[in-house]
Amino acid sequence: MSRPSRGPDPTAIDTSRRPFVLVWEVTQACDLACDHCRADATPTRHPDELTTEEGKRLLDEASEFGPGQLVVLSGGDPLARSDLTELVEYGTEQGLRMTLTPSGTSSLTPETVRDLGDAGIQRLALSIDGGSPAAHDSFRGEDGSFEQTVQAARAARAAGVPLQINTTVCAQTADELPAIRDLVADLDAVLWSVFFLVPVGRGRILDPVTPERAERILSWLTEVSEEAPFGVKTTEAPHYRRVAIQRRRDSTDAPDTDGIGRRLGIIAGNGFAFVSHTGDIYPSGFLPKSAGSVRESSLVERYRESDLFQSLRDPDQFSGKCGACEFRHVCGGSRSRAYAHTGDPLASDPLCDYVPTDYDGPMPAGRASDD
Ligand code: SF4
Repeated sequence: MSRPSRGPDPTAIDTSRRPFVLVWEVTQACDLACDHCRADATPTRHPDELTTEEGKRLLDEASEFGPGQLVVLSGGDPLARSDLTELVEYGTEQGLRMTLTPSGTSSLTPETVRDLGDAGIQRLALSIDGGSPAAHDSFRGEDGSFEQTVQAARAARAAGVPLQINTTVCAQTADELPAIRDLVADLDAVLWSVFFLVPVGRGRILDPVTPERAERILSWLTEVSEEAPFGVKTTEAPHYRRVAIQRRRDSTDAPDTDGIGRRLGIIAGNGFAFVSHTGDIYPSGFLPKSAGSVRESSLVERYRESDLFQSLRDPDQFSGKCGACEFRHVCGGSRSRAYAHTGDPLASDPLCDYVPTDYDGPMPAGRASDD
C-alpha cells in the first residue's frame, strides 16, 4: 500500500475548519494496566464499540476535513481489534495519514509492525516512561514491556515506518526524562511527544509535577529541541510555546513555529479532536465533555460548529489568568486540565507557573504544591 505524501503545511492549517490531529480510540481493551491510563482500559472489548463499517464511515468523514488529514488510532491497545489492518488500509485509500499508538505488549511483534507498514501506516507511536527496563515496566505494570517496546521500535525503523516516542511526565517519571531523551535518539525516532499528566482515568492516582518543576522541564525541553536530531512536542502543556517564545524573544524575530513546524499551540478542540470507542466526539481524550456522537451527527459539523468546540477556540472566553494572559492566543493553557480540576473547560490551567503582567486575580484551582 503506497502512503499518501506529506501532509498539509502545518502553518497553513485553519484550526477552526480542521484539526491537526484527529484521534480515534478504536477500543479500550488492553492487556496492560498502566498507572496513568486515561481510558481506564479493561482486558476485554466493549460490546458497543464502533463496528468496522461504522469505523469506515468515520474515516470517510475524516477525509472531508481535507487532504492528508492526520488520524491517530489509539486505545486501549488498537491491536485488540482484529480489523485494525483493514482500517489502516481503508483510511490510507481515502488519503488519510494513518498513525498508530499500540501498547507495548507481546502482540506487537516485528511481523505485526511490518504488516502495518505494508498497510500504509505513516507513523508508529510507542510509549516509553522510564529510561531503564525496571523503571518503565514498573510504570506500565508489566514485566517485559520495555523490551517489547524497544523491539517494536527497532522493527518500525527496519520496516521504514517513522517512529514517535510518547512519554508521560508526572512526579514518578520526571527524573527519568534525560535517560528517555537519550533513548529517543538511540531509537532514531522522528518525534518525542511529552505528555504532562492530566488527572483523568487511572491517572488520578499519580502525582503531577508542580508548576515550578513543569517550568524547569519545559525550559529544558526547549534546549533539547534545539540540539536533538528529533522534534519535540508537548501534549497538555501548550505553555511550552510560551516558554519557547520567551527564550527566543531577545535573540531573534524569527516566526514562532514549534519543533514540528506549527505556528500555534494545539489545545483540546482547537487543532485537536477525539472520537471515543463508542463514537462520542470530544475535544480531547482528556476532556470528556461530549459534543455529540458520530452515530448521530457529522464529525466535521460538530468540530466546526458546536458551541463547545467554538468556545475552546476563543481564548477571549477563558477566565482567570489564562483569560488575562498575553500568550492566550499562542498557548491557551490545557483546557483538559482546567476541566479536570474545575469542571469548566474555559478556566485556567493550574500547571502553568506564569502570572500575566498586571494580573491580580485568583490563582487556578488544583495547583500541585509538593515536588
Ligand atoms: S497563563 Fe494560561 S495562557 Fe498564559 S502561558 Fe500560562 S497556561 Fe498559557
